[in-house]
Amino acid sequence: MKPPVRIAITGGAGQIAYSLIFRIASGEMLGPDQPVILHLLEVPAALKALKGVLLELEDCGYPLLQNVVMTDDTNLTFIDVDYALLVGAAPRGPDMERSDLLKVNGEIFKVQGKALNEFASRDVKVLVVGNPANTNAYIAISAAPDLNPKQFTAMMRLDHHRAIAQLAAKTGAEITAVKNIIIWGNHSATQYPDISHATVNGQPAKSLVDQDWIVNEFIPTVQQRGTEVIKARGKSSAASAAFAALSLMRDWAMGTEQWVSTAIVSDGSYGIAKDLVYSFPVTIKNGEMSIVQDLEIDEFSRSCLQASQRELEQERDTIADLLH
Ligand code: NDP
Repeated sequence: MKPPVRIAITGGAGQIAYSLIFRIASGEMLGPDQPVILHLLEVPAALKALKGVLLELEDCGYPLLQNVVMTDDTNLTFIDVDYALLVGAAPRGPDMERSDLLKVNGEIFKVQGKALNEFASRDVKVLVVGNPANTNAYIAISAAPDLNPKQFTAMMRLDHHRAIAQLAAKTGAEITAVKNIIIWGNHSATQYPDISHATVNGQPAKSLVDQDWIVNEFIPTVQQRGTEVIKARGKSSAASAAFAALSLMRDWAMGTEQWVSTAIVSDGSYGIAKDLVYSFPVTIKNGEMSIVQDLEIDEFSRSCLQASQRELEQERDTIADLLH
């Protein structure tokens, strides 16, 4: 048996975590031969509910689950962790502006960035799920100067899956027939789901659908899918978000030659301002993500890329005072 790896999940009693924790413990993230130790963080008020999750984990008797650390102490959560899935975040209250949400959650991610910097494994891989995910990741990175910014990503993978599913349904193709979909930008309504480089069974996707469908159906459906789920279910998406988080972490650990969309620190590729946490198409090898280079960007795409960049710049300005 391999030695166990330590995986931190914040917001352990939340609904995404409830789908995520059991799948990770069963080996779905890192494989059936990789023992795990889970470190679950919650706010004090949710520790009782987290205890319920712990009881259920015990009842599953997962062979790969060696231990569970359950705590409301951020520092303790991140000691020696190899992977951190930062899921917990304060929800937007009824009278809350987006800027208020940015600040409330920014404080949480500043504390967590500091704790990761001090206590996590030097090779830790960090996925930010809690919203506003890109800017929360930006804050955590700023608070963790001893870690490489490349050790952080913010989740765009659910949007990526949604876009693949929409294109597959429209063209009547298998999910696996769709390749090279891209989600650019922010995990928000300004994200740009892009099929310019996508193929379906090897054929250019753009030759199979018309521009009107792309602009008036595909893009808004992907952008607004979260809202559609909330309207239908009365709660935000959880199982699909958990699956997306798990898929990204598995690819990060194991590698993938498929293009996947994930938000990482911009290196200036495609003219995107350096240091913003922006979603690009990437491939992953030996734990390193590389932005797919030299794609042709047409005028429509360029304006979409820039609109999402502007939103991220505004978010960065809103939380500027948290960075000190
Ligand atoms: P969820 O588990 O449903 O969601 C957690 C976070 O993930 C939210 O910010 C949510 O954003 C976000 N998210 C990102 N992508 C998606 C997506 N595609 N679909 C849905 N959500 C997405 O929230 P709960 O309220 O059920 O649970 C949150 C838990 O976090 C609570 O138990 C709370 O106590 C805990 N918490 C823990 C903290 C900590 O560990 N330090 C700090 C703050 C809270 P959105 O709100 O936009 O849906």
